[in-house]
Amino acid sequence: MSESRSHRLRRYATYASVSVSLTLILAKLAAYLATDSVSILSSLIDSSTDMMASVVTLLGVRTALRPPDEAHRFGHGKAEALAALAQAAFIGGSALFLTIEAVRRLITPQPVGEGAVGIAVMLLSILLTAGLITFQRHVVTATGSVAVGADRLHYSGDLLMNAAVILAILLTGWTGISAFDPLFGLGIAAFLLYGARKVAREALNVLMDRELPAEERERIAALVMAQPDVAGMHDLRTRSSGVGAFIELHLELDPSLSVARAHDITDRVENRLKDAFPGAEVLIHQEPAGLQDDRLDHRIADGQGAPGQGAPGQGVEGSAG
Ligand SMILES: [Zn+2]
Ligand SMILES: [Zn+2]
Repeated sequence: MSESRSHRLRRYATYASVSVSLTLILAKLAAYLATDSVSILSSLIDSSTDMMASVVTLLGVRTALRPPDEAHRFGHGKAEALAALAQAAFIGGSALFLTIEAVRRLITPQPVGEGAVGIAVMLLSILLTAGLITFQRHVVTATGSVAVGADRLHYSGDLLMNAAVILAILLTGWTGISAFDPLFGLGIAAFLLYGARKVAREALNVLMDRELPAEERERIAALVMAQPDVAGMHDLRTRSSGVGAFIELHLELDPSLSVARAHDITDRVENRLKDAFPGAEVLIHQEPAGLQDDRLDHRIADGQGAPGQGAPGQGVEGSAG
């Protein structure tokens, strides 16, 4: 498929999900005013966070993809993680508000009015959402877009949530027990909190320069050691820039090599790493093999093995888990 068609499809997918969210927000707001139901309120909050997520992702991704400039020579990759963190805070706040509202209704029960209106709006919501994820599946198949795929996964979860809201309204109507409605609202608040926690953790990994997974570190070390004339390596450290990875290491070489020869070897290692990690930036410090320099590896190992022996402030809190 041509590049422009692929871009167009992705753009249509964004328009589709923003217009569906906007329609649902208006319909659910009307339904909430008519029914005063907490489960419909929770569904309204979810649609609002969905729409905010689409907009924030759009802006964050656009900033993140900007090339490095004079003031930001490492690029702008963290913009996306910052946007995601703000979004997680917003979702967390909404879930808290929902919990307070649901608990208030449990303590002071309140009848749910106009159940039929609520059910009609939730059915409309299921219909629109089902249409949206069918279209999104088409776009994902045609373009392989990760962002649209993530969006689709979320909306599939929303289908279940909408069905649960209908169930809550029906149960309340049939049994006359008004606690069903706030209880479903509490369940949805828990679901929102769980999602916010996941988004926040992934964003923090990028913002806090968390190391790449151990398998990736091992893969890097194996690639480096497999190159001819490499005597050893140490002080490997990695982080995600939000767009690609940053890889740094000390390369141990035969001390009698000329600078030009050492540079050739280093270039080869860098190219191998860039092939294996597309978009990565690689920085290699060259060192004569056998030199015992002050090493990060040692400071970290000391901090773990015997607390207090490493240099002050070299603790490794946060490196586990
Ligand atoms: Zn949603
Ligand atoms: Zn070194």
